[in-house]
Amino acid sequence: MTERRVLLSDGTEVPAIGQGTWYLGEHRDSMAREQEALRAGIESGMTLIDTAEMYGNGKAELLIGRTMEGMDRSRLFLVSKVYPHNAGRKQIFKSCMDSLKRMGTDYLDLYLLHWRGGIPLSETVACMEQLKKEGKIRRWGVSNFDTDDMEELWEVPGGKNCAVNQVLYHMGSRGIEYDLLPWMRDHKVTLMAYCPLAQAGELRRGLYESQTLNAVAQAHKATVSQILLAFAVRDGKTIAIPRSGRKEHTLENGAAAGVVLTEEELRVIEREFPGPTRKTYLDIV
Ligand code: NDP
Repeated sequence: MTERRVLLSDGTEVPAIGQGTWYLGEHRDSMAREQEALRAGIESGMTLIDTAEMYGNGKAELLIGRTMEGMDRSRLFLVSKVYPHNAGRKQIFKSCMDSLKRMGTDYLDLYLLHWRGGIPLSETVACMEQLKKEGKIRRWGVSNFDTDDMEELWEVPGGKNCAVNQVLYHMGSRGIEYDLLPWMRDHKVTLMAYCPLAQAGELRRGLYESQTLNAVAQAHKATVSQILLAFAVRDGKTIAIPRSGRKEHTLENGAAAGVVLTEEELRVIEREFPGPTRKTYLDIV
């Protein structure tokens, strides 16, 4: 059961642990299993679903659409992302409509610029505001923005309406804690942490094998994945979006919302996986 919730700056409550969908819906033979995982996650309270037009060229959005059939749409918080090259006047309205069609819905709860590209931020922001006015999206945000990008965004008309910055953040990659995260806190931009499991340890060798993390996990009768997620959302203000195509993993991930690390455990973790002591440029995948 997903117990922790995060308040967005407009007062909307979302679950601290949602579901990512990168690589889901791409293969016919695993589709039913992935759909079952997504559905079980939603039923257990992981009602925030992150996707993008990029994922499988729309196949992840189609999978979400099929999974949502017959569900109460208003219970869900759907996030999708527009490619940077589509984030201008010429393309964004079509991109957004295509995402909505694939998911079988008439609005997104959050629409993100996937990463910075060549289209001026002022144009993207104006389009996002237009989509909001038309009721196609409830709010918008950005992804893979470092501190200087956020500062630039703040100078653009309407830029301060950015609700979320979705960036890579896990125990083995904590660079954002140095200046990006404090900046976001000061400006009320919510952190959505992607790759919170370091892609099952692929992005940071030694996480899953760590004796320290295994001991902490044992103390909570939890798994290392759950400790990684509990760590990512420990401040009560961060949303994490782990992805799984397996029901048992998805439910395990959702249950991590009930794991609260003690001060002593956080000290031990800090020694092995320390936070940054200087500016580190944003990690991306
Ligand atoms: P994650 O850190 O979520 O790791 C996913 C991997 O972990 C999969 O291999 C999955 O395999 C495995 N896994 C999931 N749960 C468990 C578990 N309980 N125990 C063991 N293994 C587990 O990586 P992602 O790259 O998917 O990141 C999460 C989401 O963030 C994406 O799906 C996407 O929505 C978003 N994202 C956004 C980006 C951006 O640029 N904005 C970039 C990258 C990601 P299995 O299916 O077998 O469980």
